[in-house]
Amino acid sequence: KGLGFRSALLAPLNAHSRRAMMICARREKSLYDENDLSAVKAFTPVAEQAVRNAEQLDELEAAVRDLDAMAHHDALTGLKNRKSFINEIEKLKTSVDQGEDPAFALFQIDLDHFKVINDALGHAAGDYALTWAAEAIRGCVKPDDVVARLGGDEFAVICPEPDGDDALLETAQKIVDELSRPFEFEGRSLQMGASVGIGRFPIDSDDPREIMNIADMALLEAKSGGRGRCAFFTLKLRRELDRRQTMEFKLLDALSKGELELWYQPIVCLKTRQVECMEALVRWRNSSFGLIQPGDFLPVAERAGLMGKIGEWVLRTACEDLRAWLMQDEQRRVAVNVAGVQLCSTDFVPTIDKIVSEQGLKPGALELELSEEITLRRSAELALDNLMALYERGYQIAFDDFGTGYTSLAHLRKFPGQRMKIDRSFVLGCETFGPESADAALTRGLFGLAKSLGMAVVAEGVETPGQLAFCQEIGCDEVQGFLFGKAMPVREALLRAKQIESDASLFWGEADAVVSAQATTN
Ligand code: C2E
Ligand code: CA
Ligand code: CA
Repeated sequence: KGLGFRSALLAPLNAHSRRAMMICARREKSLYDENDLSAVKAFTPVAEQAVRNAEQLDELEAAVRDLDAMAHHDALTGLKNRKSFINEIEKLKTSVDQGEDPAFALFQIDLDHFKVINDALGHAAGDYALTWAAEAIRGCVKPDDVVARLGGDEFAVICPEPDGDDALLETAQKIVDELSRPFEFEGRSLQMGASVGIGRFPIDSDDPREIMNIADMALLEAKSGGRGRCAFFTLKLRRELDRRQTMEFKLLDALSKGELELWYQPIVCLKTRQVECMEALVRWRNSSFGLIQPGDFLPVAERAGLMGKIGEWVLRTACEDLRAWLMQDEQRRVAVNVAGVQLCSTDFVPTIDKIVSEQGLKPGALELELSEEITLRRSAELALDNLMALYERGYQIAFDDFGTGYTSLAHLRKFPGQRMKIDRSFVLGCETFGPESADAALTRGLFGLAKSLGMAVVAEGVETPGQLAFCQEIGCDEVQGFLFGKAMPVREALLRAKQIESDASLFWGEADAVVSAQATTN
C-alpha cells in the first residue's frame, strides 16, 4: 500500500526450496480478467526458471565453499591439512622475500601407540583418538598458532613470534604431557603419548621451507631417545641434513657417471645343492663418499624421485651381467628388488618385457622381489594389476623380508607369487634362542603359511652351520646368507657359485654333522 499499489494478482511459483510468488500489482483498484490471468500464466515459467537459477547459484556457491574448506581442512579434526599448512609456510617465505623478518617456530608432533588403537579397536576408536589429540594440541597452543594434521597420526604447529627457547620447550612439553593423558572411548580408558621436534626460523635455517624438514629431523632425534620427548634441531642434525642434501645432489648424476654397481649374492637350493639364483644388490661408489650401501642411499633416491630410473638400470644390468649364466640352465634365476614406485608405474610391465626380450631371456629367468610394504600401499590396486600381468607372463614373484611387516593374510592371498623369503631376524633368533624358542615357532609358522599358499620358502641371513641345519630341518627350499657368500661383483659371484657347487664339504660339512648328530640323539 505504501508504494501506491491498489490491487495485486498473486501466482505461486513451483520452485524447489523456496516459497516463491509472482506478484502482478496495479496502481488502480480493479478486477483482473482472463487476459490478465493468461498473461501472468505465460510469465510464471520464466519466473520459476529465474528462481531456480538463483537457487542453483546458491547451491553452487555453497558447494564451492565446502570444497574450499575441504581442500584446506582435515575433514576429521577440522584442523588445517598438509596442503594449507604448506601454504602458510609459503606465505612466510613470501614475507621473508619481501624483506620482513617473521621469526617463527614449527613443531612436528607424532603420536605413540595410535596404530595399536586403530588396529586393535577399529577405525571408530582411531578417529576418536585423532579428534581427541587435535583438541588436546589446540588447547596447548596460543589462539593465533596454526595447527594442522599432516596425515595419519602426524600433527604440526606453527608458532608465530615465539618468546624464546624456554617458552617453546615448555609448550612442546605441555603437548607431550597432554597427549600422554588417558582418555575414555566407549567406557574404556585408552592412552597414547607423543614426541615433538622443534624447528626455528631463522635460527635453524634461513629458508622457511626447510623448517618442516628440520622439525622432522628433530622429531626423529626425539624419538630415538625414547618415547615422550621433545627435541630441538642441533648442529649434529645440521651436518646430517647437509650430508643428505649433498648426497641427493651427487646421486642425481650417479647414473650418468656410471657410479652405480650391481653386486650379486648366491641363493642355494637345499635339495640340489646348486646355486639356482643370484640376488642383485645395488651399490654406489662415489669419490667423496666411498662405497655406499643401499640402505644409506636408496632412501635419498626415493626422496629425489630417482627410484624408477635406478630400478630400470638394475633390471637391465642384472639381465646383461648374468645372461650367459642364466642361459646355461633353465632352472637358474636372477632376483631383482623392486621398489614400490616401480610396481605402481604404468610402464613397469612393458619395460621389463623389453629388457628381458632384448637379452633373449625367458620370463622365468627373472625373479622380482617385492617387500610386504608394497602389498599394503594405498595404490595397491595398480600394483596388483601389474603383479597379475607379470605373473601371467611367467615372471617369478618373491615376497621379501617376510614376517617383518604387518602382514594381513587377506591381503597376501590376493597377491600371486612363487616364493616367500623369510627375514633374517627369524633365522637369527632360531639359533640364538634354540629350536624350542618363540622365533623358531614363528619361523615354522611362517613356513607353514607359505606352504599352505603353495609357495616355496627361502631363508635369508644364514650365517652359521647351525642355522643351515635348522633350515634343512624345517624343510626350507632355498637359503641365502654369509655362510655361502656375501654380495660380490659379478665375476666373483660366479666363481663363488662354482665353488659352492663343487666343494660340498666346505659349505655343508658342519651342517650335515649337526643334522646327523640330531638324528642319532632323537
Ligand atoms: P634385502 O633385499 O633383504 O637384501 C638382503 C640384504 O641382506 C643385503 O643387504 C645382503 O647383503 C644382506 N645379507 C644377506 N645375507 C646376509 C647374512 O647372512 N647376514 C647379514 N647380516 N646380512 C645378510 P644390502 O645389499 O645392504 O641390501 C639392503 C637392502 O637394500 C636390500 O635388502 C634391499 O631391500 C635393498 N636393495 C638392494 N638393492 C636394491 C635394488 O636394486 N633395488 C631396490 N629397490 N632395493 C634394493
Ligand atoms: Ca631382496
Ligand atoms: Ca630380504
